[in-house]
Amino acid sequence: MAADEKKKAPEAGAVKTGGKAAAKPGTVKAKAAPAKRAPGTARKKETKPPAEAAPVEEIPVEAAPAEPELPTPRRSVAFIGSECYPFVKTGGLGDVMYALPRALVKQNCDVKVILPRYKCIPWEYQEKMVYRGAFQMDLCADGRSFYVGIMEYIRDGVVYDFIDNEEFFGWGNPYTNLVDDIPKYCYFAKAALAALNYMDWIPNIIHCHDWQAALVPVYLRTLFDATKLASARTVLTIHNLRFQGVYNIPTIRYWSGLPDYVFNKDALTVNWVDANMLKGGLTYTNAITTVSPSYAGEIQTPEYGESLDAHLRYHSGKLRGIVNGIDCDIWNPLTDRSLAFNYDASNALERKKENKRALQQELGLEADDGKFVIGLISRLTDQKGLDLVNAILPAVVDGNTQVVILGTGDARYEDSFRWYENAYRGSVCSCIMYDEARSHRIYAGADALLVPSRFEPCGLTQLNAMRYGTVPIVRETGGLRDTVEPYNMFTDTGCGFTFDRYDAGLLLDAINRAKTLYFESRPYWDGMVLRDMARDVSWDVSARQYRELYLQLT
Ligand code: ADP
Repeated sequence: MAADEKKKAPEAGAVKTGGKAAAKPGTVKAKAAPAKRAPGTARKKETKPPAEAAPVEEIPVEAAPAEPELPTPRRSVAFIGSECYPFVKTGGLGDVMYALPRALVKQNCDVKVILPRYKCIPWEYQEKMVYRGAFQMDLCADGRSFYVGIMEYIRDGVVYDFIDNEEFFGWGNPYTNLVDDIPKYCYFAKAALAALNYMDWIPNIIHCHDWQAALVPVYLRTLFDATKLASARTVLTIHNLRFQGVYNIPTIRYWSGLPDYVFNKDALTVNWVDANMLKGGLTYTNAITTVSPSYAGEIQTPEYGESLDAHLRYHSGKLRGIVNGIDCDIWNPLTDRSLAFNYDASNALERKKENKRALQQELGLEADDGKFVIGLISRLTDQKGLDLVNAILPAVVDGNTQVVILGTGDARYEDSFRWYENAYRGSVCSCIMYDEARSHRIYAGADALLVPSRFEPCGLTQLNAMRYGTVPIVRETGGLRDTVEPYNMFTDTGCGFTFDRYDAGLLLDAINRAKTLYFESRPYWDGMVLRDMARDVSWDVSARQYRELYLQLT
């Protein structure tokens, strides 16, 4: 710990202002949006008229298009979560933590993202971080004190503040095991609030994500209740209800240092003996969101509720679903540097074939753009419906179809996909790895993408796929149901193929319907490819919905 740089901690949230100009409690530091010059309105160079200039006909100066006005009023939002692309990403949460703040900046929000400073963050970002301050913070029930450093990095109008502590974040991947993760995220939740107080940055909204940040609303309404920060309203977003941060009460009580009264059955306690960090956050937060309207309904049922369905039904008045989008700058086939051939809607049909051949060569598949290539990009876990895929793979690989799998996860899926690759060499390729660039090439080169999930809060792969003109084949659950309109052959509408019950036969049927259209009615298939590419899968609509929610809360 950098002892010489320590300042005395704001005691359990007591505010200690840093050297920066202090804001009034509860007020937003309303930074005026930088005055922007509309494109094309650059100052005109003054030019001398030519010496013998004939009377010149005045050329009307074309008025530059006005810069779109930012919606008012401005709101300040602190995002608190455990991962964020490009620093650290293990799944969709990382994508959302990156893309939503950027979209909110365009909605006139002042956004700060608070993250752990994991050792695994690439050096190219670590070296650009700027030291913002440090202090000591009490954490545990016995008042043990811990170092909290703040390192700052600013990019595209979003401020990233990394909470620095070697003891918690100095080794391993973000998530290791619950024994280590529970103390780590108790520390992180409290340190994030203490850091806001320390920087004297009092946002209108504190937007927390998943169980790793779920203690934030609990701390805010207990140990931080007498601080300036208490004026902030909280939103807790559930990205995946399966992960809740559950451990025995004595451990969580010790590490969190939270008062005894929060360990009751309406807040943190479950099954009389365990504490559930997500449940506590759901109780204390002002609003709950999840990442699609369908999932918001599903998690209130015993089938999808992961034992919190009754609790969520009780709090349903403050629960709503807002579907995720994707960052259309990163996911842009026209500018994507990972692709062999860039394309947009004007040349997609040809260029996708070229990307398909490049992909086949890269992966050692038979190079033939006449084959139907199905991609699957996923964590290899039970959630993702891989037992269905395993059951039908031999029936899918019929000589005209190839399957490309990219993912890591449970050994049994990794092993079975490796086995299939071996058994169907040239037709099946299993890339058991995490490879961002290769994922882009699969989205570009495949014809269809499988997402047969058992449950899917939102799902991003089907959105990425549509953006790249790859037709999704999905199970009708959660966000998949909300984002993939089933193809209707009578009206020639829709953007993918879907099936409802969790059943391998129905998945095979959906794949066969896709193949039939591809092989027998190509113009209709091509029409769907172009419809998919034209769909708005950006964050714009959803960011507006989040902004509305922030306005309602403040
Ligand atoms: P989840 O968050 O449940 O893992 P999502 O569909 O919400 O699933 O998000 C998954 C994201 O991670 C997508 O952007 C997808 O492209 C990416 N992804 C998943 N597995 C891999 C992998 N093995 N290599 C590269 N990217 C991957």
